Amino acid sequence: MAAEFRRLPDIELTPEEWNAPPLIGPTGVRHGQLKNGLRYYVCATTKPKQRAAIALVVRIGSVVEDEHERGLAHIVEHLAFNATDAFQSHDIVKFLESIGAKFGACQNAYTSVDETVYELTVPSDDPKLLEQAFSVLAQFASAVRCSPEDLQVERGPVLEEWRMGKDSVGRAQEAHWELILQGSKYAQRLPIGLKEIIQGAPADVVRSFYERWYRPEHQAVVVTGDFDPEAVVAMLTEKLEGCQSRDPSPAPAIPRYPLVPHAKPRFKVFIDKEAQQLLVHVSFKTATAPVTTPLEYLSSLREDLFHTAMNARFFRIGRHQDPPFYNAQIGTEQITATIRSIVLTASTQENNTLRALEAILSELSSVRVHGLSKREIRSAIDYNISEAESLYIERDQVYAEELRGDTSNMVVKTVSHRRVVSEDDLAEVVQKVERAEANGEIEIPDTLADAPTSVIPPGKEPQAGEIVHRRNFPKLGATELVLSNDMKVCYKCTDLLDDQILVTGLAPGGLTEVSQDEYRTASFGVTLASEMGLFGLKPEVQMDLLMGKRCGVSVQESAYWRSIGGEQAPVDLEMGLQLIYALFTTAVTPIPAELDTCMQYLREVTLAQLRNPMRRFADRMRQLIYNDCYFYRPFSLRELASVDPDKACAHFNRSFCNPAEFSLCFTGSLKVDEFEELVKRYLAAIPPADTTCPAPKPPDKLNPLNFKFPDGVVREDVRVSMVESMSQALIAFPVRLAIATTNGLPCSKESVWLVLVCKLLETKLMQKLRFEFGEVYTVAVAPSFGAEAPCSSKEYSDGDVAVTFSCDPDNAQRLIKMALSEVQRLQEEGPSTEDVRTVLTLDQRSWETEQQENSFWHNNLVSSYKSRTYHQCKDLDVAYTRRVEAREAVRAEANAASVQAALCRLFPLPCHSRYVALTLLPQKPLLDRMVETTKNLLPSRERSRAYWITAAAVVAVAALVLLRPR
Ligand SMILES: [Zn+2]
Repeated sequence: MAAEFRRLPDIELTPEEWNAPPLIGPTGVRHGQLKNGLRYYVCATTKPKQRAAIALVVRIGSVVEDEHERGLAHIVEHLAFNATDAFQSHDIVKFLESIGAKFGACQNAYTSVDETVYELTVPSDDPKLLEQAFSVLAQFASAVRCSPEDLQVERGPVLEEWRMGKDSVGRAQEAHWELILQGSKYAQRLPIGLKEIIQGAPADVVRSFYERWYRPEHQAVVVTGDFDPEAVVAMLTEKLEGCQSRDPSPAPAIPRYPLVPHAKPRFKVFIDKEAQQLLVHVSFKTATAPVTTPLEYLSSLREDLFHTAMNARFFRIGRHQDPPFYNAQIGTEQITATIRSIVLTASTQENNTLRALEAILSELSSVRVHGLSKREIRSAIDYNISEAESLYIERDQVYAEELRGDTSNMVVKTVSHRRVVSEDDLAEVVQKVERAEANGEIEIPDTLADAPTSVIPPGKEPQAGEIVHRRNFPKLGATELVLSNDMKVCYKCTDLLDDQILVTGLAPGGLTEVSQDEYRTASFGVTLASEMGLFGLKPEVQMDLLMGKRCGVSVQESAYWRSIGGEQAPVDLEMGLQLIYALFTTAVTPIPAELDTCMQYLREVTLAQLRNPMRRFADRMRQLIYNDCYFYRPFSLRELASVDPDKACAHFNRSFCNPAEFSLCFTGSLKVDEFEELVKRYLAAIPPADTTCPAPKPPDKLNPLNFKFPDGVVREDVRVSMVESMSQALIAFPVRLAIATTNGLPCSKESVWLVLVCKLLETKLMQKLRFEFGEVYTVAVAPSFGAEAPCSSKEYSDGDVAVTFSCDPDNAQRLIKMALSEVQRLQEEGPSTEDVRTVLTLDQRSWETEQQENSFWHNNLVSSYKSRTYHQCKDLDVAYTRRVEAREAVRAEANAASVQAALCRLFPLPCHSRYVALTLLPQKPLLDRMVETTKNLLPSRERSRAYWITAAAVVAVAALVLLRPR
């Protein structure tokens, strides 16, 4: 794509053309307005095949709400999926299931301050489904019921959504929003609204909000996809032309709230106990810049270039010794339809807050005074692949001028978990930089050294190797090569996307291969090596080199595998292979100065995680499920201190040095001859391993983790002190999959059954807990087998299935009970035939969509290499076809009885005989905890007095402490 873009001819625009909006008609978009005022835009595309994306866009968001309506725009979005004049709740859900969509509000719709959008992806091969989709949109547009019963069911999920937004990130965002929009109606109109209104708004108020604002004049239907556009225009006209609001009065105009400027900067030090990082934000508010003419488009490109160049500068500064910040970025944030802001964000350590602020402001000032260098502009253009480049060869100062030094409309905010600076300190830094600029004291930034043009240094060109063996796998359409250094390369050419090549490399053996004592240090190998530079280049040099290229290579190490991952544009494939060559042929050496910064950063990340309630919960969960297996134990600050960086890097170097251990898969837009030439030149050129490298180890010989799901029932509350009360609930069941053999090879049918059963559970629990009882927002059911050694000789593989949801802390225990009894009911009575059909449809629709994506085929290559079948027969086609056959066999056998049998066979029977139930709950106040302890110490008849005894004791101790003479 990039190459094609560069080949596009230049066009000359007249001054009039620069300033006129381009016509959208001729480009294939059919658009118009129906008799009732509703607009439509229809555009036919060829990919993905047989799918259409349709949306109803309502130009009504939370900003039109009155004070007593705060949150109603979003509630209406929820109610739309509940019931309308023509559809009962079940009908809409059934329709969504028939098109293979996950159902419900916030899955297929969103509400912002300025708009509410409903989106559906529909199979377009069946005109009936498309027609029905338009009927559903027509109902959303003017026939949502908004009855008291509907509202009652939706209050719980919306409230849960409200609660989920109250974590430390959500609180910081809310504070940011209010600060930046202070003085505008937007400041008090976050779409989620107010708790009291979610809990108590009467149905008639909701209904009148809906009828007042949902008017055809304020709505548009947008349709794109693989279809005949004329037919679609006719269809949508028929279905939507009749929509009218139930309110006969004329449609109210949509009010617009423009930017409210302020002359003085605003400062805020925001403290949040659970804050994960110390952040410094500087925002410059401006009115939204429309992009309707070529000239306006050009101006938006200039802004992108400026941001790219600044971000590259910030990245380099972050790599200095003792840097003012770990990282910093500049970007644009579209806040509302009328207001946007340019935001600079830096993360730093506590005692560097003011230094970080000064550094980012000084950089801006430096661009105002000295401009960007040609080199910087050149690489920013390469990065943005712009044809407007000649305009930017001159030093460009204009854009930074707009971020005025006079600080009007500027908002400066820090976020930290305790107070380290004051608002006055922030103001002082802003003035300091202003003064420096006024006095001509802003320095020219360091001139950049020229970036290398190749990953491989001149004179060290690789010695091409050979392809020694080739094998085709016709069913997968893939070819496997064995290279002279014993590396395997498997590739599949597709025409699904012309601009994508996916890469994954795999080697059996990961962190379980080192001893328990060395495990922590080894687990930091990848992180530290990435910070030092993986390819014999420092990260800042690497950034320079790769700017403008779409090719990235990253590495990972898990319990049992080492992997290489990446995605390249076809034109940059050669660079990608050079990176892989360099990964194997260069060694990472720790550089003390950079290590210090890196270790300091890791310390802060670890500390932040300890403040994060969700993290504490997840840690405890793993510890319990894996019965305190060392690999899953929570990580402490003390352990971080014991990490040996030299050993970590040495471990990394050993992990990625022997080409014979690796199989590399490539999927996408490949040209066979060119690709094989490049493979010989770079991958086959990696020298075979010497004696310092580990010898390849077959996957069945890997060291297994010793873990065991606890027996019986384990229930535990994880109490953590939190700023806002919230709760997370988890029920985990042990699952053992028998590995049957058919025709002498392992059969994966059981794992297909498990996936099907998990999908069924998720659908049923969602129906029960969300749609029937209105208690939760969402439920997830996920299997996990990551702890089991991949090809062990056992005849089964052990894992678990986790059911998770968030809820009101007071309801957690009751909801866990409800969920358990639903699983039990399904084990005893089985699902209905319809339930099974729903799950099969969901599965089939996503299967069809996935087949049009490179990632589907790529994952098939990768999972074949990981599979037991491949390990036994070394045939990728066999591994693939057996997986497909297993899926088809299970689909053919699936019915109410067989799914029930699978649920009984795979899960503990009865399900409540063995599980781990964990709830995250807010820490009770100290007094309550003391009362509980005292209660347990007293004989039962005395317990009612416990509260008073404890309270008196606490008061006495407090008095002693406070009144102590100093
Ligand atoms: Zn929602």
